Amino acid sequence: MSQPISSLKKLYTQTGHLPQGVGKVSGVIAYSLAILCLLGVIAFHFPQYLSTPELRHKYSVDVLRYIMLAGLVISGGIAIANLILNRVRWLNAFALAIVVLAVALGGPTVPVGDFPDNTPYIGLDWFILDLLGSTLIFIFIEKLRPLYKDQPVFREAWLTDFVHFAINHFLIGLSLIIVNFLIHRFFGWATYAPLQNAVQSLPFAVELFACVLTADLVQYATHRAYHEVPFLWRFHAVHHSTKTLDWMAGSRLHLFEVITTRVSILGVLYVLGFSEAVMNIYVVIVGFQAVLNHSNFSFPWGPLKYVLVTPEFHHWHHSSDKAALDRNYAAHFSFIDYALRTAVKTDRHLPEAYGVLGDYMPEGFLRQQAFPFTYREPPKE
Ligand SMILES: [Zn+2]
Ligand SMILES: [Zn+2]
Repeated sequence: MSQPISSLKKLYTQTGHLPQGVGKVSGVIAYSLAILCLLGVIAFHFPQYLSTPELRHKYSVDVLRYIMLAGLVISGGIAIANLILNRVRWLNAFALAIVVLAVALGGPTVPVGDFPDNTPYIGLDWFILDLLGSTLIFIFIEKLRPLYKDQPVFREAWLTDFVHFAINHFLIGLSLIIVNFLIHRFFGWATYAPLQNAVQSLPFAVELFACVLTADLVQYATHRAYHEVPFLWRFHAVHHSTKTLDWMAGSRLHLFEVITTRVSILGVLYVLGFSEAVMNIYVVIVGFQAVLNHSNFSFPWGPLKYVLVTPEFHHWHHSSDKAALDRNYAAHFSFIDYALRTAVKTDRHLPEAYGVLGDYMPEGFLRQQAFPFTYREPPKE
């Protein structure tokens, strides 16, 4: 038994391309799906503590049951096929054991009754659904049209970014409470009903454009401050420390930065009083574009690249090339950087290297959260 367990441990630390045609890729898919299904079953058992109220009011539990059933069938089917074909037996045996455990615990049929809406919770449902959806979309487009063709899915330091991703999702409830509290504390005095009425009476498309533009201008200002104020850079250096960019890399953020940036942007949007319909679309846009901008995805954007932030544009922001330092701050509209003369000027398509100059950031979620408080010398050149 110790051999399969040490092989499993190695799976979490190994990087690089998985060997093709030996059942490893399908085994990893079966194993990952099985774990997500098991986590889903646990969330069904304790929905008041393991699901996100904002999310569960929007999705149908019956649809989730079908998704889980499909996940169990696919995962179990792959694992059994690989076991029969004698391919990576230890991994597929683990996958099958987790599928059996998930089914034994009730699988997709666990009843979900009424429960109180105001318990403290971990956003496990948000983690499962976002991981599943983002993996399907982004690994597909990254494989279809990669910026860097040889970049593997399990690239260097993927586990650190995965832990950032997981904890950001688990803590969504706590983060919402803190952000809401701070917005009302710091921006509550500034609301002015006639202004909010005027904003809400704009045509829908204009209001949406104004919302995203306002958000990006505030984001530009806070982001630039995070680069130019040495105390703030210590926090933002965490985000810049990744040396390989893909859809998961954008999750690498210090929690202080996550909260302060959200409070600044949402605080200003709250004061301006954008309508709920516009805010709902903005939240989807910002979530999608934040992931897309970091992804290893190439697309013939044409002149659009002077208007919208593309993965190439944000890749240059993460470059450690001297000419690219403190450039390309925008998150939605690249024209902001062109207008304010902070866009990278280069003839090259992509940078040569990523990360922070001096490479001083430790690996690992906790070490990176502690970094701003333990660091002594100003790191930036
Ligand atoms: Zn930055
Ligand atoms: Zn970034």
